[in-house]
Amino acid sequence: MMQKLKEPSGNITGKEVNKEGNKRVTKTYYHPTIALCRNCQGSGRVMIYDSPDLLRMNGKEDICPVCQGSGRVIVSKLLETVIKPFREEGGLL
Ligand SMILES: [Zn+2]
Repeated sequence: MMQKLKEPSGNITGKEVNKEGNKRVTKTYYHPTIALCRNCQGSGRVMIYDSPDLLRMNGKEDICPVCQGSGRVIVSKLLETVIKPFREEGGLL
């Protein structure tokens, strides 16, 4: 049985507010979470096919390059919020 990988998602670890002129940029960092590798569906291995092998009969098994064979990946999230004043004449500029 797989070990439990449940971690609260959306766990904020840091916030950074920068002011650039009239613009306000807020960066929110979320706690990295462990997720199933989508490239290999958690198996850690992928099948490599030669390009002329259209029927995919002679696949070679290889270590998944995304998770390096662990079947799990760490996903870290960064949310960037940009706030700037609205000007009628300037539109969305
Ligand atoms: Zn993988």
